[in-house]
Amino acid sequence: MLSHKIIQFLTVGSITLIATGGSLSLTRLLHKDSFNNPSLFAQSADKKSPAANLQNVALNASKEDIPKQFQGQTIYQAKLPITDKVIALTFDDGPGPKNTTQVLEILKKNNIKATFFLVGEMVSFHPQIVKQIAADGHVLGNHTWHHWYRRMDVATAASEINRTADIIYKLTGVKTTLFRPPGGFLHNGLVDYAKSQKYAIMMWSDESGDSQRRGQAASLIKNVEKSAKPGGIILMHDGGGNRSRTVKALPQIIADLRAKGYKFVTIPELLEMQTQTKNVVTAESSITTNDTHPNHQLHNQ
Ligand SMILES: [Zn+2]
Repeated sequence: MLSHKIIQFLTVGSITLIATGGSLSLTRLLHKDSFNNPSLFAQSADKKSPAANLQNVALNASKEDIPKQFQGQTIYQAKLPITDKVIALTFDDGPGPKNTTQVLEILKKNNIKATFFLVGEMVSFHPQIVKQIAADGHVLGNHTWHHWYRRMDVATAASEINRTADIIYKLTGVKTTLFRPPGGFLHNGLVDYAKSQKYAIMMWSDESGDSQRRGQAASLIKNVEKSAKPGGIILMHDGGGNRSRTVKALPQIIADLRAKGYKFVTIPELLEMQTQTKNVVTAESSITTNDTHPNHQLHNQ
């Protein structure tokens, strides 16, 4: 009886997946293939692998696309088996005039794609750097126009998010699907609007602590090493002030995580992986929507 129920559950689960997967189901398979094949996985979309070509031509998929189940949800990390050692580096508050370029160089040298949450006003000051981030194959996310923390009405929240989305699109052709609220504040009106626009609200699970005044590069390295976990999202900053500590720590952070067996992915790739494994890991919804997560108080920039 029990096994019958399990089979029934799995069957229903599969049907649901197929039914809701829609046009993304092939993308998911391609992602899975890429993940199982490390050499494919390391390639950027502009390399001419058959899978990448198929994905781009047949589905017109963008690297910013996220599975439907995450739209309008608040996410702190992907729920993956502990054996899936993948992790996402994220950089906030840029583009910065100096540090963003340095971060890009380090990422390129290490063949890593990351996710950048851009401040619209900064984008307007440094359009060429944003074009470079996109050209290097990184994922672009929305971090509002002014980086305000205060409570705002719907029209202001809409303007903060839409202006940023518009300038990113104008410069790069990228339609952003990821939103990170400044300061991690979830209740000042921005997140409500972002959810209404189907953005995934991307929080973080691992703090580098690089927005804290205290601490040297060594403490950033230690912070990441302590909190890194499979499916984790690491918070760092390439803008909003002098981020030379972040630039200094980043190569060692990468080396340490690699030594532990981690691969680096973008947030959409991380979410994609969760959809591949969710029936294995958790029968219940594995999306975190805990708005009282303590991390938001620590994010000061
Ligand atoms: Zn920020």
